[in-house]
Amino acid sequence: MLTAITTASIITIGDELLIGQTVDTNSAFIAQELNQIGIWVRRRVAVGDRYEDIRQALDEESRSADLILITGGLGPTSDDITKPLLCEYFGGKLVRNESVLKHIEYLFKEVYRRPGPLLDRNIRQADVPDVCEVLPNAIGTAPGMLFRKNGKLFISLPGVPAEMKRLITEQVIPRLVREWTMASILHRTLLTAGAGESILAEALTEFEASLSNSLKLAYLPKFGMVKLRLTYIGPSELEGNALIEEAFPRLAAAVKTWLVTEDDINLEVLIGNWLREHKKTMGTAESCTGGSIASLLTSVPGSSEYFIGSVVSYANRIKVELLDVQQETLLTVGAVSEKAVTEMIQGGLKRLGTDFMVSVSGILGPGGATPEKPVGTIWIAAGSKTRIITRKLNLRFDRARNTVITTHQCLLLLWELLQTNEG
Ligand code: AMP
Ligand code: MG
Repeated sequence: MLTAITTASIITIGDELLIGQTVDTNSAFIAQELNQIGIWVRRRVAVGDRYEDIRQALDEESRSADLILITGGLGPTSDDITKPLLCEYFGGKLVRNESVLKHIEYLFKEVYRRPGPLLDRNIRQADVPDVCEVLPNAIGTAPGMLFRKNGKLFISLPGVPAEMKRLITEQVIPRLVREWTMASILHRTLLTAGAGESILAEALTEFEASLSNSLKLAYLPKFGMVKLRLTYIGPSELEGNALIEEAFPRLAAAVKTWLVTEDDINLEVLIGNWLREHKKTMGTAESCTGGSIASLLTSVPGSSEYFIGSVVSYANRIKVELLDVQQETLLTVGAVSEKAVTEMIQGGLKRLGTDFMVSVSGILGPGGATPEKPVGTIWIAAGSKTRIITRKLNLRFDRARNTVITTHQCLLLLWELLQTNEG
């Protein structure tokens, strides 16, 4: 009998994962949930709907992990082979489970409202290996299954993300916590901007050399910023907290020049919290980003408290008519200019009646470049009635990546302005 779980492996099954048709979000979710209860996911493996490959994955993963989580391949169609395979692998035979059958009947009749008798293939979803424990699937027809072999625990779940999530949070996690001893995994994260990974690593050589063996430092670059995460993995939460309490302030101090926040939150949340606390409002005037800054800001629940609106002024006519950008500005220095984004701020503050605005105008590519303004030339601004700050970005990525980076750089510029607390 297993008493302690330290490591897990996740096997995701389905040809769709291997041809890139479906992105494997299941293992990210499972890994996060397991991490929170102190189980380290050592490997994630994706295999197709192929007998030999699934068998081999089970053999290999159970060699190095205590817990093996499997998703996918439990559907009613012939391409889903996980159940008969597991049955054979664990030396059982398929038997009909009456309570699963009742549940399937209920789903088809009351929830899916499909008329007529159940199809044979639906009934067979109630057949489960007699060597497993059934984990009832409240919202789907394929139940989860739990097996034990050679002191290892195997849990097979349906691939449908909503069903998998529900089974993980309502059944798998509570059960693991109840029945097994786990390690302690603690994370603490801060956000930096303005320095790349290598510069940060240089600034952190001394800090890294001083780190206890139970702590690990991770560099997570994203959107032109870098998150730094300290992680403790060890036997004691008390020890972990003490180690992190000691090391985290030293980490923050070492990267002070580039520190945005010591909390593990995104910029859109950070800005939203500030605006709410200070009872201020904001809006955006966006050309090349087409509303993506507004979209990011409004992805935060409760953003209506501070986010007023946006003018997506893609055409010059809209910049003039709705944001009061001067014709002369467009004719002389052009729409991609410091002057244009400054006027977009001024016009936006007036027309939208907000305390703060961000604006952006640029060439995201691949077309639209001129000799003086190559692709990736982007002007951004953030401002209030009393102060406007501007910045020129020179990005070198494709259109999609240029857009996300610009979006985040605009928020970063606004954060800089909010820090001075003017307006
Ligand atoms: P299955 O249990 O294999 O019948 O999977 C049902 C559906 O769930 C598939 O058609 C996929 O759309 C989805 N799915 C399966 N595995 C994953 C995964 N690892 N991540 C996200 N979606 C998945
Ligand atoms: Mg499948």
